[in-house]
Amino acid sequence: MTIAIYPGSFDPITLGHLDIATRAAKLFDKLIIGVYDIPDKRLLFTTAERVEMARQAVTGLPNIEVESFTGLTVAFAKKATAQAIVRGLRMSADFDREFDMAMMNKRLFPELELVCLMSSLEYQFLSSSLLKEAASLGGNIDDLVPKHVAVALKNKVRR
Ligand code: ADP
Repeated sequence: MTIAIYPGSFDPITLGHLDIATRAAKLFDKLIIGVYDIPDKRLLFTTAERVEMARQAVTGLPNIEVESFTGLTVAFAKKATAQAIVRGLRMSADFDREFDMAMMNKRLFPELELVCLMSSLEYQFLSSSLLKEAASLGGNIDDLVPKHVAVALKNKVRR
């Protein structure tokens, strides 16, 4: 059975993340979305909220699971008996960071492959951080996230 993990902050999950996850799920028997469970002041949502939003977003996609994890991504991959890490690449900023992380991960777990999928054109500009900024300034983000995420985001930034 082919298994891949798709790790990230998912703060919150966007249609850009979902596009990568649904495409990756066609390449593997099982895809596990791994939500970083790390204390980070920049995060808007708790780990439980991020996991719940991601779970709701993949309801109906039977070979995608959502779990949180702490510690090294490669350790999470090993525990999940995954053969690959999936990441999404947007046009400019992502490559350098992914390349550095991939080199380190290769050292730590040489058998694990990195599979990068190019972001679809309509989501090239979309990041959770820009999304949060737009939402906090009252911008309309409804067509960038699933409906339940838009509601959660509006409730969160309103406080
Ligand atoms: P991280 O904190 O690890 O960057 P993110 O939740 O921001 O976690 O992103 C997780 C993964 O999804 C990363 O590989 C990131 O490049 C990718 N990603 C984020 N937004 C998009 C998007 N709009 N299109 C494609 N991939 C994306």
